[in-house]
Amino acid sequence: MQDAQAWLEEHQAQMANELETLCNLNSGSDSLIGLSQMADWLTEYFKPISSIVEKIELPRYELLDDEARIRFQATGPALRWNVLGSSPGKKKKLLLTIHYDTVYGPENPFQVCERYEAIGPARQPELRMRGPGVIDAKGGIVVLRWAVLAAKKFLDLSHIDLSIVLTPDEEIGSPASIDLWQRIASEFDFAMLYEPCLADGSMVSTRKGTGTFIVVARGKAAHSGRNFHEGRNAINLACQVALAMDALNGARPNVTINIGRIRGGEAVNVVPDLAVLRVNVRVSDREDQMWIDSQLRQIAQRFDAPESGYRVEITGGMSSPPKNVDETTAKWMEQIERAGCQIGESISWKRSGGASDGNKLAALGLTNIDTFGPEGDLLHSDQEWIRLSSLPRKAALTAAVIKGQCF
Ligand SMILES: [Zn+2]
Repeated sequence: MQDAQAWLEEHQAQMANELETLCNLNSGSDSLIGLSQMADWLTEYFKPISSIVEKIELPRYELLDDEARIRFQATGPALRWNVLGSSPGKKKKLLLTIHYDTVYGPENPFQVCERYEAIGPARQPELRMRGPGVIDAKGGIVVLRWAVLAAKKFLDLSHIDLSIVLTPDEEIGSPASIDLWQRIASEFDFAMLYEPCLADGSMVSTRKGTGTFIVVARGKAAHSGRNFHEGRNAINLACQVALAMDALNGARPNVTINIGRIRGGEAVNVVPDLAVLRVNVRVSDREDQMWIDSQLRQIAQRFDAPESGYRVEITGGMSSPPKNVDETTAKWMEQIERAGCQIGESISWKRSGGASDGNKLAALGLTNIDTFGPEGDLLHSDQEWIRLSSLPRKAALTAAVIKGQCF
């Protein structure tokens, strides 16, 4: 392991350069051109691991736009490489995966990386890079690639099958790759995901579940001067629904309800006949999940009053169930701590309120830990940064975990 670790450390500058190139190429979740260019770039980037890439076309996913119309949206391909062990016997099957889309579309002003020095946790100056996707999750792609390169070079992988899968739509809730996960999750014994760990290096143990509910409020349009009283204001209706849903906050300790977005109305002299409300919820367990689902649906039903000219429909729901630590996951966590010990990294764990594909894979029965990516913070903002020294360290951690499986 020491050789692998030293070799990775030697390549830190190269990793940083590759990350910079990768982040300066836009691959916002909604940009089909960006995603397809990124898929080509990644195909080249992973050639040293395997020249055989499977480009998996994903189905179009359904979305409800702000005019309450259903649209079918295409996304980029998922990419898969296999590094199969040569031993004829039964092999451990590991999935290494992360997404290549980011939250920054091509129109976002945050497009280019910048390096700088900052004072790190040990009060020492450290090199950082700020840029779109540096930790979420392009830094994870770089860590993953170098970890597998190191594993191939320094470890005996004959008793292990590694599959690398990169996906194009995690930042919008994986509406297309869920299809792929449902097909392939059962192939693997364990999954390692390369979402960033926390700024202090802690990895994530449990994650809350999340989902988005969409409320379509309909009323009746009318001129605000000529026949105001004949109108039925859909924005007012959506606001009442929003306040009723927001009032559920605090009713159960681990459930939060965020009224994230309301769209409706055109000209100010028209009573609006349509408003679309989007509500994001977070829950800790299955009981909370059932509870919030039924509460939100009851509220929608309460405000649905066709006899008075008001209609309320609710769609959407939980997309990522909560991710908790079961016995198998706890064993893997111990193994990861041991692997960390081997390379001089002490591993600590924290809970997170954010969801990842790890939630979905866990719900499909695939045990996983999802924070093998680099250290940094402020993801989803134009201050997103990475600690560059964490690139080789985190790659070494993955190599050490893989080594722990090579018996
Ligand atoms: Zn993200």
